[in-house]
Amino acid sequence: MAVYNPKSLKAEEFINDDEIRKTLAYAEENKENTELIDKIIEKARPKKTENGCMCSGLTHREASVLLACEIPEKIKKIYEVAEEIKLAFYGNRIVIFAPLYLSNYCVNGCVYCPYHLKNKNIPRRKLTQEEVIAEVTALQDMGHKRLAIEAGEDPVNNPIEYILDCIRTIYSVHHKNGDIRRVNVNIAATTVENYRKLKEAGIGTYILFQETYHKESYSELHPTGPKHDYDYHTEAMDRAMEGGIDDVGLGVLFGLEMYKYEFAGLIMHAEHLEAVHGVGPHTISVPRVKHADDIDPSAFDNGIDDETFAKIVACIRLAVPYTGMIISTRETEEVRSKLLRLGVSQVSGGSRTSVGGYTEEERPRDTEQFDVSDQRSLDEVVRWLMENGHIPSFCTACYREGRTGDRFMSLCKSGQILNCCHPNALMTLSEYLEDYASEATKKIGYRLVEKELKRIPNETARKIASQNIDDIKNFNRRDFRF
Ligand code: SAM
Repeated sequence: MAVYNPKSLKAEEFINDDEIRKTLAYAEENKENTELIDKIIEKARPKKTENGCMCSGLTHREASVLLACEIPEKIKKIYEVAEEIKLAFYGNRIVIFAPLYLSNYCVNGCVYCPYHLKNKNIPRRKLTQEEVIAEVTALQDMGHKRLAIEAGEDPVNNPIEYILDCIRTIYSVHHKNGDIRRVNVNIAATTVENYRKLKEAGIGTYILFQETYHKESYSELHPTGPKHDYDYHTEAMDRAMEGGIDDVGLGVLFGLEMYKYEFAGLIMHAEHLEAVHGVGPHTISVPRVKHADDIDPSAFDNGIDDETFAKIVACIRLAVPYTGMIISTRETEEVRSKLLRLGVSQVSGGSRTSVGGYTEEERPRDTEQFDVSDQRSLDEVVRWLMENGHIPSFCTACYREGRTGDRFMSLCKSGQILNCCHPNALMTLSEYLEDYASEATKKIGYRLVEKELKRIPNETARKIASQNIDDIKNFNRRDFRF
C-alpha cells in the first residue's frame, strides 16, 4: 500500500487514499469538538505583522474538521474568518475573465462532459486563426483583457502547435483600445516539453481540473482516452512546474464524488505543490457538474446543495489564504453573490461556452460545454459587482511584471497590496468605463473610483493613480500599472 508523502512525485503518495480516509475519520470524530474547532478557526484568522498581515493557512486535517462541523454558530464563525481573509488579501477587488473555447474535438470518454468522443449529437468545431481573431475582437469589444482558453484533448486536431498558434494570434489582436494581456490555459495534461512551450508563449496560469481525486471513481468516470491515466493527470502540475510554469490552477468538478473526500484531496494537492516547489497553487476553481448535451447532472450521485458549496468555499479560503478562487458562470447570480463574500477572487462574465460563441448574435447552444446559469452581459456583471461593493478589476499586472509564483505570495504578505493591486484595479476599471461601459455603469463606476482612490495609503501611489486615471479619461492613454 502506498504511504503518504507530500514531497513525493508519485500521485498515489501525495494524494494518498489511506491518508484521506484517516483524515475523514479524524474529521468525523472531531466535528463536535468545539475546543479544537475554535483553535483551528483562530489559527486561520489573519494576524497583523509589522508591515502588513499574514495567515498561516490550515493543514488538510484541520480544514477537514471545519468542513465536517455542523454546528451553526461555528459555521458562522468560519464564514466570518473567510470574509476577513478575503478582505485582508484581496480587498473588495474581483478579477474578471472570460473563457474562449478553441476546439471541441476530443478523444476522451469523460462521462460528465458533452465533448466525449461518443457524443455524435454535437457538431465538432475548431476555430481557424481568422476565427480566433474574430472571437478575440468580439471579446475585446466587450472589454475583456484576460482569457482562459479551453480545448478538448485531441492530438490530431488540437496538437500543442495549434494551441500555441492560437495564443500568438490572441496576443497579436489590438482592436481599437483593446488587447488581451493575459491568456490562461485550460488544456489536457501534457509533457514537460509542451509545458515549456506554453511558458515561452507567455501564458498566465496553467489550469487543469483534477475532476476527482478518488482514483477508482476517476477510472470509471474517464473510461477511455489518454485522460484515463489517473497518475499522469494527477502529476501534471509537477510537470508544468518543471517546465517553468509557476502559476498553476487546481480544481475539482463537484458532484462526481463525495465532497469531503475531494476537499481533503484538493488541500493535499496544494500542500504537495508547496512542499515540492515552494509555492502553492495560484488559483482553485470550484465547478459543479451542469446539464449539457447528453449529460444529465442527476446521473451523478454526489451533487451538493448551495449551503454545502458555500461551506466548501469558505473552508478553502481558510486553508489556502494566498490562493485565488474562481467561480464561473456555471453558477447563478445568487450563488455567485454569496461566494464572492466568502473568498472568491475571480469571476467570468459575459461567457459563451461554445466554440465560436462570441461572434454569434444569439447564444449558440449546440456546441456548449455546459449550460450557463449567469447569462448577463459583461456590462451587467460589472455594474452588479459595483452595486454590491466590489471593484471589478481587469488587472493583469502581476504576471506582466514577473510577480508570479512565490513573488506574488510575497506581495500578498508585504502589505503592499493596497498600494499596488488596488490602484491597478482602479486604473483598469477606468479603462473599461471609458471604452466599453454603458452610461449607467460609467456613472456608478466613476463614483466608486473616486471613493476608492482615497483608500490608497501611500500618498505618491495615490497621486500617480489619480493622474493616470485623468490621462485615461482625457488623453486616451492606456495600460498603466504598478
Ligand atoms: N480538456 C481539458 C482537460 O482534459 O482537462 C480541459 C478543458 S474542459 C473544456 C474544462 C473543464 O470543464 C473540465 O475540466 C471539466 O471539469 C469541466 N466540465 C466538463 N463537463 C462539464 C459539465 N457537464 N458541467 C460542468 N463542468 C464541466
